[in-house]
Formats: sequence, structure tokens, C-alpha cells
Amino acid sequence: MRVVLATGNADKVAELRPLLAPREVAAAPEGFDVEETGVTLFQNAWLKARALRERIDDDSVVLADDTGLVVHALGGRPGVFSARYAGPDATYADNCRRLLEELEGVDDRAAAFVCVLVGLRADGSMLVASGSCPGRIAPAMRGAGGFGYDPVFLPEGEDRSMAEMTREEKAAISHRGRAARRMAALLDEPA
Ligand code: IMP
Repeated sequence: MRVVLATGNADKVAELRPLLAPREVAAAPEGFDVEETGVTLFQNAWLKARALRERIDDDSVVLADDTGLVVHALGGRPGVFSARYAGPDATYADNCRRLLEELEGVDDRAAAFVCVLVGLRADGSMLVASGSCPGRIAPAMRGAGGFGYDPVFLPEGEDRSMAEMTREEKAAISHRGRAARRMAALLDEPA
């Protein structure tokens, strides 16, 4: 079975490929980009999956990932707006810095990553899986692995940030790892 990922994010592709092995996992065609106008992670994942489905005419499954960081003290923000938290062209570091600034002096550091995966088969049927990873926001950025908010996220029971873990360690406990293992089981079900 071939899976085509509806993302131009190389970091997500690098994480999802081993999680979906031994299936063949292809990245989206060059330049694939979808405006994420949804107000939920599911909507954005579905928008991306649908846009790619319209461009792929073989029997591959297209698969989209939408992820957000839910911070308790911020009423769940940045959530579905995590990519643009520090502005429309925000870098990973800009977003981490803005988060640390907003939480300066805040004792409640509880947070969770949430990942929603939407798969669309060639026959139009939809597969949905999600996963979350509870944790807390670190006092400062740490580590050079992972991507996005990983340097400021300490998974529950861990003193290391997600950016201080190996890819395998992150995959074992992460929102995306959990969602992808559930999705892999759905992909094995008959259409
Ligand atoms: P999106 O799912 O591409 O919209 O990503 C939402 C935001 O969350 C972006 O800023 C990503 O960099 C960030 N993000 C997505 N997945 C992860 C992750 O596994 N760790 C840390 N940050 C992530």
C-alpha cells in the first residue's frame, strides 16, 4: 500500500515515514500548499487531505496531519492556530519565544500536543485517528532535535524537552506517534 502525505512539512514527513512503515510513504508533490482556514484540527486535516486527493488519481491513500499545542493557562491557545501564533510568517523559534513570553510568571505550565490524522482512500472513504501527549511548558528552550514547539515541551514524567529526545523516543510517546499507530491499524482494515 502507498500513502501520500498531504504536507509540505519535511519534519512531519520524517516522523510519519517510519511510523507508517513498511508501507511506502511519499511526500506531497512539490509546491503542495493549502490554506488552513478551518477552526478545528480535524477541519484543517480534512481540507489538506481533500486537496491532495483531488490531485492523486491512483489508489494511494492520502493522509493529512494537523497538530496543535493546547496550553491550559491560555484557555487552550494556540491550539489550531499554533503555526501562526507569533504571526503569519513565524518561525519555530518565534513561536517558542512568544509562548515563553506569554507564560512568564505563570505557574500553571500544563499543556498537551494534539494530532489529528485524516486519510482519504481512492473510493472516497475517510479514516480518522488522533493522539495526544500531555506535558508542560519548560522555562526556556532546550535541545536541537524535533521541530516546532519541541524545545519548550516537557512530556509528562520527563525532565528533558521533546527536542532533547531521539526520534524514536519522541515517536514512542508523542501525539503523532500515537495517532499514526492508530491510523496504521485503520489502514490494515479492508476498505
Ligand atoms: P500544523 O499542523 O502544520 O498546522 O502545525 C501547527 C504548529 O505546531 C506548527 O507551528 C508546527 O511547527 C507545530 N508542530 C506540529 N507538530 C509538532 C510536533 O510534533 N512538535 C512540536 N511542534 C509541532
